[in-house]
Amino acid sequence: MNEHNRSRRVFLRTAALGLAAVPLARFATHSSRAQAQDLPKAEDGHALDYVNDASESEHEKYESGQNCESCVFWAGEESNGWGKCRHPEFADVLVNAKGWCNTYTPKG
Ligand code: SF4
Repeated sequence: MNEHNRSRRVFLRTAALGLAAVPLARFATHSSRAQAQDLPKAEDGHALDYVNDASESEHEKYESGQNCESCVFWAGEESNGWGKCRHPEFADVLVNAKGWCNTYTPKG
């Protein structure tokens, strides 16, 4: 096999693998989003003194202006102000962007 044919084979194999990966990547992205949207919304008191409306918290650690959206554990909005929290206590629910819990840690 000459060098030209070898390069051509490598190119074709790489292109085929790349094309095969596209649908898998789309499936993985769609799948994780669907899973997040299937999660129930956290209720007040879910864990760690969580409340859906931070301004209603009477916890001694709460300071005005703190909320999930500005917390380092906030993983981003999924829909209508609800999103995932990376803290293990909230792995099975969505939290509200305006919510708060006693593990609040400001970003950066
Ligand atoms: S750790 Fe608490 S304050 Fe931070 S995003 Fe999660 S629920 Fe909200």
